[in-house]
Amino acid sequence: AIGGIAYVGYNIWEMRNPHDQPNPDPSKKTLVILGTGWGSVSLLKKLDTENYNVVVVSPRNYFLFTPLLPSCTTGTIEHRSIMEPIRNFLRHKKAAVKYYEAEATKIDYERKVVVINDDSEIKGDVSSTEVPFDMLVVGVGAENATFGIPGVREHGLFLKEVGDAQRIRNRIMDCCETATFKDQDPEEVKRLLHMVVVGGGPTGVEFAGELQDFFNSDLKKWIPDIKENFHVTLVEALPNVLPMFSKQLIDYTEKTFQEETITIRTKTMVKNVTDKYIEAESVGPDGQKQLERIPYGLLVWATGNAVRPVVNDLISQIPAQKNSRRGLAVNEYLVVKGTENVWAVGDCAVANYAPTAQVAAQEGAFLARMFNNMAKTQEIQSQLAELSQAQEVAPTKEARDEIFANIKDLQKRLRRVQSINPFEYSHQGSLAYIGSDKAVADISWFAGNLASGGTITYFFWRSAYLSMCFSTRNRVLVFMDWLKAKVFGRDVSR
Ligand code: NAD
Repeated sequence: AIGGIAYVGYNIWEMRNPHDQPNPDPSKKTLVILGTGWGSVSLLKKLDTENYNVVVVSPRNYFLFTPLLPSCTTGTIEHRSIMEPIRNFLRHKKAAVKYYEAEATKIDYERKVVVINDDSEIKGDVSSTEVPFDMLVVGVGAENATFGIPGVREHGLFLKEVGDAQRIRNRIMDCCETATFKDQDPEEVKRLLHMVVVGGGPTGVEFAGELQDFFNSDLKKWIPDIKENFHVTLVEALPNVLPMFSKQLIDYTEKTFQEETITIRTKTMVKNVTDKYIEAESVGPDGQKQLERIPYGLLVWATGNAVRPVVNDLISQIPAQKNSRRGLAVNEYLVVKGTENVWAVGDCAVANYAPTAQVAAQEGAFLARMFNNMAKTQEIQSQLAELSQAQEVAPTKEARDEIFANIKDLQKRLRRVQSINPFEYSHQGSLAYIGSDKAVADISWFAGNLASGGTITYFFWRSAYLSMCFSTRNRVLVFMDWLKAKVFGRDVSR
């Protein structure tokens, strides 16, 4: 029995640690994957890595479960609970995968190389080099849109990465502690405690809800002095928030925010940002446009995505991409138009779908299936070539017939493998947390559509997100964080 356990243990250990691949296998193509987000990681999850020399390049050596990032800004969830080290994950693959922690700063399409830069604090003698590719998957995501509005980058905080969530968490506490500083002027107290969120998409709405929760259940208990002046305002340029949800759920969200005393300022477009106030244009009661100053202590900027420079640079190298403004235009097999060996997934690809995690994950899984099939196709084709050679020199009719039957079988298999349908996104629904233990969900099940909001939806939201977590480890950590916040409250230290 002990021998058996030891054997199983050894096998698990082996499975977790494929031997390093010291040099690329020259008989295989080199597949370079840029990014470790939803698209790239879901591709890696399903990819048979023994078919290619797989190289992953990303400045972030972990996968981040972004749907729960807003919860990290208030300490409801600790950021490490939603991070999965990419190296742990790659160690589970059957064949070794090379990983470089670096930013891809240029893709040279003609020369088939990616220029990579080590942008970490500690640098070795080499901190910039080139990675050649036969096949390339671009899954670098997008950056935060600012629309060139002055002051946003200097004074606003974004909500895309772990560092952003930590900065916001720190700034919330900074505002509260500074507002209660001795002899602080009442107007200044008001400013410091005004939490402004720009952008009424799901990111802005979820963050505003989380922040108000933080205030209601913890901040006002531990720092009663801020009770009178703490206020959250959500600013949105369009006539309503959450445009991707149904009218009923938009109304529900707006009503819930009203009850939570979050102010929603729709039809209000931010034009300028300074260190203490934003300038926003809205339509006044007289129908005239007016510019007003809104003082703030915390400014979170959540106005969606913009194209990364490395992607814009690639676009400029490919004539067929001339009119691409929002990212790399891809065909129905996610091939970057105008290329044969470059694919794009997730927020950097333009495939007529919203830039969501769900789309990116499905695109990644599709590419994995396609790459696995491409490898199988090659394998079958070389078997077929061998068989037809063997058939020519076969000594007897029986031997020839047997080989012929095998060829027929293989051809059938080849047809099956080659018949891969184009990528089609299957929308499972949209979910968003809106604060005070409520969530909204637009779910398309079977033929019907379920639009729901409220506490039951909230439990559905929780269990859905829990089940979508990357690993069992993440799931356990997130569950413990929720429990901890419920029992002890959130941590209000910096
Ligand atoms: P978004 O693009 O969905 O929303 C940004 C909002 O900012 C828009 O409504 C826009 O009108 C507004 N805006 C832009 N400039 C403005 C200005 N100067 N002043 C005021 N308002 C301005 O952005 P997001 O919320 O970051 O989402 C990005 C993508 O990620 C979307 O596709 C979204 O569906 C997805 N996402 C989904 C979820 C979820 O399903 N729970 C959560 C987060 C993000």
